Amino acid sequence: MESIKLNNSVSIPILGLGTWNLRGDECTRAVNEALAIGYRHIDTAEFYRNHKEIGKALKKTNVKREDIFITTKVPPYKLRKKTVIASAKKYCKELGIDYLDLLLIHWPNPMIRFEDPLEAFEELLKEGVIRSYGVSNYGVKTLKRELDKNFKVSVNQVEFHPTKNPKELKEFCDKNNVVITAYTPLGKGNDLNLDIIKRLAKKYEKSEAQVILNWEIGKGMVTIPKAAQRKHLLENFNALGWKLDKKDIESIDSI
Ligand code: NAP
Repeated sequence: MESIKLNNSVSIPILGLGTWNLRGDECTRAVNEALAIGYRHIDTAEFYRNHKEIGKALKKTNVKREDIFITTKVPPYKLRKKTVIASAKKYCKELGIDYLDLLLIHWPNPMIRFEDPLEAFEELLKEGVIRSYGVSNYGVKTLKRELDKNFKVSVNQVEFHPTKNPKELKEFCDKNNVVITAYTPLGKGNDLNLDIIKRLAKKYEKSEAQVILNWEIGKGMVTIPKAAQRKHLLENFNALGWKLDKKDIESIDSI
């Protein structure tokens, strides 16, 4: 699986499995199928309440722990320094692993001193509980504040798909060496029906989902489509390994 080097030299696989709304046995099954297909990146959060089910899949798979990238997120109401540290250790236990590859602040919380979670992340890095950290749902202003204090924010996970294309934020992240992970990358399936996407799918003999995911990856982002169905898991995995022409990328940009 192709990956991107983060600003701390940790590599993040460009395609991950989103797991929001995946629960119980369906979650364990989908994660196991994804790993068997070749996915090497799983995205979760405390909020998704599926750490244990993902943990079961990680226990069952033949893929080595060091070959799998696990991202999870701490909720905005748990951002005090001590709570972040305790939460990260709890997530490891729930997932049945010794470390997290990436820990994110799920949303900013203006009520908490902003340095708190970031100082916790620095301690967790030193202890080896996490390999990298970042944020989610941060705009330019909020992200700039962390970077100005020299916090090593490696990733900003934000909503990104053809009908939600925050160009200014993308430019800012590129300039500051922060990788964007595109969440809701298919627009929950709605963007598959756009005329431009349908036309390009025909032109490249790919599916609409493959065109969209390829566009995101082509912009140097990580993408994390959620898929419970095996046919979707396979289809999305095959969004890799080919390229849209520059002018077709631009036509999606113009949506
Ligand atoms: P999404 O990935 O854009 O869309 C998921 C929907 O698309 C599911 O109904 C899925 O169906 C369907 N689908 C998947 N592949 C398809 C394909 N090839 N063809 C047709 N339909 C397909 O939406 P999302 O779940 O909101 O976002 C993905 C992940 O981003 C989440 O799971 C979560 O990990 C992350 N996320 C993060 C945040 C945040 O605040 N950081 C917020 C939202 C989401 P099936 O499941 O039936 O296969």
